[in-house]
Amino acid sequence: MEGSPTHRAISIEFVSYNGVDVVKTWPAEIVAAQGLLEIEIEGQLFPRVAYGQEPFWAEVNPTYASNPCHDCGIVAGQLHVPDCDVEQCPRCQTQLITCPCTITSPVQNEPDPVLEPEKTPDNT
Ligand SMILES: [Zn+2]
Ligand SMILES: [Zn+2]
Repeated sequence: MEGSPTHRAISIEFVSYNGVDVVKTWPAEIVAAQGLLEIEIEGQLFPRVAYGQEPFWAEVNPTYASNPCHDCGIVAGQLHVPDCDVEQCPRCQTQLITCPCTITSPVQNEPDPVLEPEKTPDNT
């Protein structure tokens, strides 16, 4: 029959992770996120809050962590992928992406920029 939605005209491939459809590259992001144990906020390091340990969300729905994270697909006990809208700020205990804290290091180490030595002309 014509018009049946069997074909998805999207170029991004999805895979199932913890039963959640995620972009194909996402599981690697989740694995990487598990190694990011701390987040730097305004110059201070805070341990990140694992899924299922957010009192902020437990208040809204006490069983929220019985399903994988609706945003990043992790399960209880795992750490959210950076920028997940469920992650709780360890500093002010509210939603990390909307809280007023300034994240000074977004959980990844940026390489130091290589400073070029000043060129001093030899011929005077
Ligand atoms: Zn999440
Ligand atoms: Zn905060």
